[in-house]
Amino acid sequence: MQKKTHNLDEFKKTAEKFALGLTPLSDRATVVGLYGDLGAGKTTFVQAVAKALGVTETVNSPTFLIVKSYKLQVKSFKTLVHIDAYRLKSSDELRKLRFADLLADPRNLILVEWADKVTDLLPKDPRQLHFEFVDDQTRKISFS
Ligand code: ADP
Ligand code: MG
Repeated sequence: MQKKTHNLDEFKKTAEKFALGLTPLSDRATVVGLYGDLGAGKTTFVQAVAKALGVTETVNSPTFLIVKSYKLQVKSFKTLVHIDAYRLKSSDELRKLRFADLLADPRNLILVEWADKVTDLLPKDPRQLHFEFVDDQTRKISFS
């Protein structure tokens, strides 16, 4: 499925709707890979998802921390895990941050920016969101 958003507000609403439509799996964390160039809107999407799920603190890009977790206030998931793989030289670095433990818990919703850098650590069939910059205000989002 594809969606074109024409301004930031529409983009955020799309993220909220996506967030509220997610339901946990029974055997592992829900993993969503976010793909797209710098500035495409990946972090902005995560911020809107976090807000929709009750996170009140500021969600910044975890570029230097790599992994940041937020407690959620909803029934569906307990924790939102925001990962930014941009600075990783190899997926080994994320492996060392105990990614497998995060993946094992069905109560985790894990959103991974630059997911293509850590493909070998992700489940075989992660949800994928591809973001494309069309112009300053317009983004194309492909869901799979
Ligand atoms: P990424 O994480 O993909 O590098 P960001 O989410 O950090 O991108 O977005 C970079 C900049 O673009 C931010 O200043 C943000 O406000 C702006 N931006 C992101 N998404 C949109 C959008 N859908 N419409 C307009 N501006 C956006
Ligand atoms: Mg980002």
